Amino acid sequence: MDEATLIAWLREEDPQPLAQLWHRADTERQVHVGPMVHLRGLIEISSHCVRGCGYCGLRAPRTDLPRYRMSAAEIMASVQQALRLGYGTVVIQAGEDPAITQEWMSNIIRTIKRETPLAVTLSLGERRADELLAWREAGADRYLLRFETSDAELYARIHAPRGQHRCDRIALLRELRTLDYEIGSGIMVGIPGQTYAMVARDILTFAELDLDMVGIGPYLSHPQTPLGRGECPAAAPGEQVPANELMVYKAVALTRLVCPQANIPSSTALATINKKRGRENGLQRGANVVMPNLTPLQYRAMYEIYPAKACIQETGEQCNQCLRHRIASIGREVGSGPGGRRRKSERQQLLPVE
Ligand code: SAH
Repeated sequence: MDEATLIAWLREEDPQPLAQLWHRADTERQVHVGPMVHLRGLIEISSHCVRGCGYCGLRAPRTDLPRYRMSAAEIMASVQQALRLGYGTVVIQAGEDPAITQEWMSNIIRTIKRETPLAVTLSLGERRADELLAWREAGADRYLLRFETSDAELYARIHAPRGQHRCDRIALLRELRTLDYEIGSGIMVGIPGQTYAMVARDILTFAELDLDMVGIGPYLSHPQTPLGRGECPAAAPGEQVPANELMVYKAVALTRLVCPQANIPSSTALATINKKRGRENGLQRGANVVMPNLTPLQYRAMYEIYPAKACIQETGEQCNQCLRHRIASIGREVGSGPGGRRRKSERQQLLPVE
């Protein structure tokens, strides 16, 4: 699909062609990744952050938010819960927190890999190459880093650099690939200043990077951030992408068509703007993954990347029940095992050799 076709779909409002788009995405999902919905247990291990991202409620300059960092023992308790609940993967996410040292994190990864069969996904922001290498060597399987927007100018506007540190997320994703991580990225839909052409190019960038995982959610305004205070101008009327549910479904469905093999979550942000049907609709319009929250309840509200986040008052057990129920209600099954993406090279290796 080329940029013009993607733009035309993103601008489509007529329910009839859109119903066809949902159907095509759902069919591609079924053909390429099957009926299973994979569960990834999300553990938000620290809300400390040194960065100043214009959209994120965890940004460093925010002083009114109490911060937390889980201990290794608390993290392992959540990992054990993931195992008990039958998940195949844990996703360890945090703000960009220098107290998460290379060594401390390596030890935790090694413990998880020694004690469980779980796949380990890290989502710890922009970290140094030596840290990423050490964590890969410790056993981490996947790394999630959304590039948020592929437009360099918009990216620079919403993403304050950290001194001399690199902040080219697309370059970092390529580096993660050379370290042999499965790589995940994604965007927020409806960032002030984001145009239809930009989202079309984001989707083409997913394919170009050959992402294993693509997470897409609506941009949700947080009043304690520069974007939430209206400090970043919207694009011209008719060009600005709305941060609404329909636009997220379109981006998810088109991503499934362009990256048929990718693991695509039906995101918590989507569930936040439509608490009743957001998850299910996402799963029926291209997505095949959900990420139930395993963060201990006393910390949930403090991981406030955006306000009114879904699932914030549920225990890990309740989140599990709720999501399993939702998956069953649309006639889908829960996948077992790590549910990684089988890459082309691996598939070729599996072919019998003469
Ligand atoms: N520090 C890590 C994890 C950040 S939270 C990192 O930077 O990768 C994970 C994702 O939440 C972000 O990548 C972003 O896409 C999303 N997010 C943050 N603030 C948001 C907001 N206000 N609205 C919607 N999504 C948001």
